[in-house]
Amino acid sequence: MGGDVHVVASSQADVVKGGRAGLTQASRRLVSQDKVSRERFHDEIYERIYIAILEHRLAPGTKLGEEQLARIFEVSRARVREVLSRLSHEQVVQLFPQRGAFVAKPSPEEAMDVFETRRLLEPAVVGRLIDHLTKDKVARLRQHLELELDARRREDRRAVVRLSGEFHVLLATLCGNSAYHRMMRELTTLTCLIIFLYDAPTAMSCRADEHAEIVDAIARRDLGMACQLMTEHLNHIESSLILDSLDQEIDLAAVLGDSR
Ligand SMILES: [Zn+2]
Repeated sequence: MGGDVHVVASSQADVVKGGRAGLTQASRRLVSQDKVSRERFHDEIYERIYIAILEHRLAPGTKLGEEQLARIFEVSRARVREVLSRLSHEQVVQLFPQRGAFVAKPSPEEAMDVFETRRLLEPAVVGRLIDHLTKDKVARLRQHLELELDARRREDRRAVVRLSGEFHVLLATLCGNSAYHRMMRELTTLTCLIIFLYDAPTAMSCRADEHAEIVDAIARRDLGMACQLMTEHLNHIESSLILDSLDQEIDLAAVLGDSR
C-alpha cells in the first residue's frame, strides 16, 4: 500500500513537470488507477449505499454482506470494509463481530433520543443561520423547497424522503458551523431510518408547507417564529411515529447493482 502511494505520487509529479505527453504507457496506467480515483470510487460506493438508505431502498437491519457488495461493485472486500467502517462511524451501519455489517436499526428509545437532540440542536442552527443570513442563502433554501415541491408533484416518494432530510442538513450547512453540520447529517440519516421503521406507511416524513413556513420566518429574520415552527415541525414528525417495525428481505443486487 505504502509503495503504491509512492509510485502514484511520483507519477503525479511527472504530470506536473512534463504534462501527459511525457508519461509512458505504464505510468499512464498507474495514474488511471491512482489513489485519487480509488478514493473517488470509494466515495461512490459510500454515496450509493448512503443514498439508498436515505431513499428508503435499504431497510434498517438489512445485512450488508462484504462478499456480496464486493461482487456488486466489483471491488475487493477490503475496499468494502473501508466503506462499511466509514458508515459505521456515522452510525448508519452497525458492525457486529462474527456477524458482519447491518443497516442501523434504531430502537424506539434511540428514536426518542434523536428527536430530543434535534429539538435542542435545530433552533440553534436556525438562530446561527439568521445571524449569518445572506440573500444567496435564502435563495438556496427557496431553490431546495422547489426541488421538494417538484418531487411531490411527480409523486417520487424516494426523492421526497431524501430531499426532506437534506433540507435540514442544508440549514446546518448554510449556518456555517461545521460541528452542527456533522451532527445534523448524522441525526438526519438516523431520522430517515427511524421514519422507515416507525412511521405510518402513508406518511411522507416532513411536510413541505412546514419547510416553506420555516424558510419564510428565517427570511424575515424572525428568530422566535423560526424556532417555534422548527420545534413544532419536529414534534409533528415524532408524533407521527408508531412503534412497529417492518421486516422484509432486501435484494442487495437489485437495490445497488443497477443504474451503473
Ligand atoms: Zn423537515
